[in-house]
Amino acid sequence: MSSTRPFAHPDAQSPLACDGVSLDTLAKKYGTPLYVYSAEQILERLRLFTAAFESIPHLVCYSVKANSALAILKLLDRNGSGFDIVSGGELERILRVNKAAAQRVVFSGVGKTAAEIDLALRSGILIFNVESAGELDLLAERASRLRKRARIALRVNPDVFAETHPYISTGLREHKFGIDIRQARSVYKAAAKQKFLEPCGVSVHIGSQIRSADPFGAAAERIAQLVGDLRADGLPINSVDVGGGLGIEYHADHSFRPEEKIRQYASALLKALRPLGNLQLLLEPGRFIVAQAGALVTRVLYVKKNGEKTFVVTDAAMNDLIRPALYQAHHDIVPVVRRKGARKKTVDVVGPVCESGDFFARDRELPELKPGDLAAILDAGAYGLSLSSNYNSRPRPAEVLVEGKRARLIRRRETMDDLLAMEQM
Ligand SMILES: *Cc1c(COP(=O)(O)O)cnc(C)c1O
Repeated sequence: MSSTRPFAHPDAQSPLACDGVSLDTLAKKYGTPLYVYSAEQILERLRLFTAAFESIPHLVCYSVKANSALAILKLLDRNGSGFDIVSGGELERILRVNKAAAQRVVFSGVGKTAAEIDLALRSGILIFNVESAGELDLLAERASRLRKRARIALRVNPDVFAETHPYISTGLREHKFGIDIRQARSVYKAAAKQKFLEPCGVSVHIGSQIRSADPFGAAAERIAQLVGDLRADGLPINSVDVGGGLGIEYHADHSFRPEEKIRQYASALLKALRPLGNLQLLLEPGRFIVAQAGALVTRVLYVKKNGEKTFVVTDAAMNDLIRPALYQAHHDIVPVVRRKGARKKTVDVVGPVCESGDFFARDRELPELKPGDLAAILDAGAYGLSLSSNYNSRPRPAEVLVEGKRARLIRRRETMDDLLAMEQM
């Protein structure tokens, strides 16, 4: 139950399973490529957060962009989670799941449009994380036009360095995100003069896939300092949003204890923030909640040799899961059926898309895979389908959610008619 991944071989003969449900059976029923998620694992991770922050008023606002499947949002909503959104589209998803969940929504993002702001104001979201002085002006104008008060936090850029891939690091001054923490006090002063704005929070998000607790602690210390200054300026700051970004371990051979990770993370944050007293803490985990709950199941089409290299060509491609191509990310790959005495081979696992970047593994030692075999690309629950595309006119995979011993389709496979529906000749 509290194991890192829900994907395991029940015994030596059985195919790889998700919470006991055979991936071979699911692949036969729903086809491949296929995303499979464990509901149990998602809730387990949500519970770990709630437990680690039990000692302080807090709300977990799951970051919708990590995996925005309605069924997963509904599962989280039913279990008390809030949501961090970065677009009007993500808000529409939440409203479809449960209109009342808007009260648990925080709205982040550097480029909110007037239409998105209006939708959020009308829906009565919890708080806006404002990322620039320009956005503050627009929000003030829209709020006064609609005569709706907006609770706001400024997303400040704390200028801390976090060890992660450069594309998913966001907490340095050179990044486009947030407001320079040195300018924040004067922007808050301007906000406080606006009749329909209620500056009551501070927010920060320093990046993604950050595995050490230290940068989170460093950012929290700077935030605590700012909260103190703002309170001294007379602003009733009672909310601190520490963003998301807590990383997971994508290599099974590294020991990874999620409970331990969250405990270290919580202790780094609370050490800095607890002295502030009266405070609601907002947390925006995405990857940590869903990444390890999901796998992308794919079938081997061909095995080909070019010179010294062996390529395993799968029916999944970079359009289905772009993390390896985009971030040089590692995903463990496991054959679904273990063949007795299968030899290990060093191979590249690649998709059919016409890009050299279309790979899932390079020079990876794997048990021999043959055409027709199934393989599971693990830890694909976050930034998998949500970052997918139709590149090469490839319909997107179906998605299945395993709940207890039952599996159900939560998104059907796209058809060519779906892909062409928007076009005219
Ligand atoms: C993407 C994002 C998150 C979630 O990041 P994870 O690394 O998936 O935890 C949280 N907050 C904001 C503002 C984001 O942009």
